[in-house]
Amino acid sequence: MIGFEYARARTVADAVREMAGSPGAKFVAGGTNLVDLMKMDIERPTKLIDVARLPLGTVEETAEGGLRIGALVRNTDLAYHPSVERRYPVLASALMAGASQQLRNMASVGGNLLQRTRCAYFYDIATPCNKRGPGSGCSAMDGLNRMNAILGTSEACIAVHPSDMCVALAVLEARVHVTGPRGERVIALSDFHRLPGDTPQRDTSLETDELVTAVELPAQGFASNYTYLKIRDRLSYAFALVSVAVGLDLEGGTIKGARFALGGVAHKPWRDAEAEAVLRGRAPNEATFAEAAGIVLRKAKGFGHNSFKIDLARRAIVRALSQAARGTPQSQSNKKIA
Ligand SMILES: Cc1cc2nc3c(=O)[nH]c(=O)nc-3n(C[C@H](O)[C@H](O)[C@H](O)COP(=O)(O)OP(=O)(O)OC[C@H]3O[C@@H](n4cnc5c(N)ncnc54)[C@H](O)[C@@H]3O)c2cc1C
Ligand code: SF4
Repeated sequence: MIGFEYARARTVADAVREMAGSPGAKFVAGGTNLVDLMKMDIERPTKLIDVARLPLGTVEETAEGGLRIGALVRNTDLAYHPSVERRYPVLASALMAGASQQLRNMASVGGNLLQRTRCAYFYDIATPCNKRGPGSGCSAMDGLNRMNAILGTSEACIAVHPSDMCVALAVLEARVHVTGPRGERVIALSDFHRLPGDTPQRDTSLETDELVTAVELPAQGFASNYTYLKIRDRLSYAFALVSVAVGLDLEGGTIKGARFALGGVAHKPWRDAEAEAVLRGRAPNEATFAEAAGIVLRKAKGFGHNSFKIDLARRAIVRALSQAARGTPQSQSNKKIA
């Protein structure tokens, strides 16, 4: 049995102070990822600092016309929040495409941002894995890598970030508010998750003593022309092979603005500025969308079992952009459970 301490933080200041004085500690919110990792002996925190009861569970309007979402808002509550459903439906759809109802009821926004990869070898402590044991090697590179990355990979790691929520947050250009012993700071979502490089053990740019307090959405929500398309092995309760979040701004039959991000293909939600730029000022048709997909995937690299993802991603991008342009988002049909 592996022992660890437990403390419950009552205020944000408490949580930060407790963490600063406890090397090797970890925050725990819903526990749906961290507790599994502890049971499997992948994470061994010396102490759990329970942040689940901190007053970070609200969604508030910002002065700039956006939303500030507390780090402890549950995934279900966020997906069904009236302002999110109405103004940021791509986020509601992405949240509802993730996990199961029970998990979404427990999972927090902060925990979803920081969930760890689902690479099979990361979970198998009998095998080498640079993310789990830096310098030990990467078993996925020549192994069973069907779920692994095709973009932004390194020689050390080809893992993907498994979140659905974060793919939508990338399209919405969310900002992550964090606080720690050195004060508060704001991290653009695009800078929050890292590429593996030669330090795959680090998933994000968050320091180990920093607490995520909120995620802020700007006013632009793409409420009319959006989609979250998730391609997976089963219709529910499965991680994405490839997913695509889209937000389009259309005017008189022309694309005025376009954002899209891919999930399931890289160590972070994947956006490509050049591919988005090629859409602007063009007609929303299949040829234009195929050109954008070609740009995103020009540097994609398969590792055997996952090579099919390159063509899958190409087709998913075209389909998702077409759905968004038509205003017929894929996942609306299965969004409402009740
Ligand atoms: C069977 C299964 C299927 C799943 N399927 C999907 C899926 O299809 N799509 C998807 O997106 N997700 C999926 N998930 C993942 C799920 O969404 C995450 O487990 C969940 O979002 C994590 O949130 P949590 O609050 O439980 O985090 P926890 O487990 O409590 O914490 C996760 C990590 O975040 C850190 N942390 C938590 N809160 C904070 C904070 N405020 N500040 C700093 N650090 C913090 C913890 O220290 C820990 O490292 C699945 C999970 C399971 C178990
Ligand atoms: S891909 Fe990354 S997480 Fe998977 S085995 Fe290789 S180093 Fe580990």
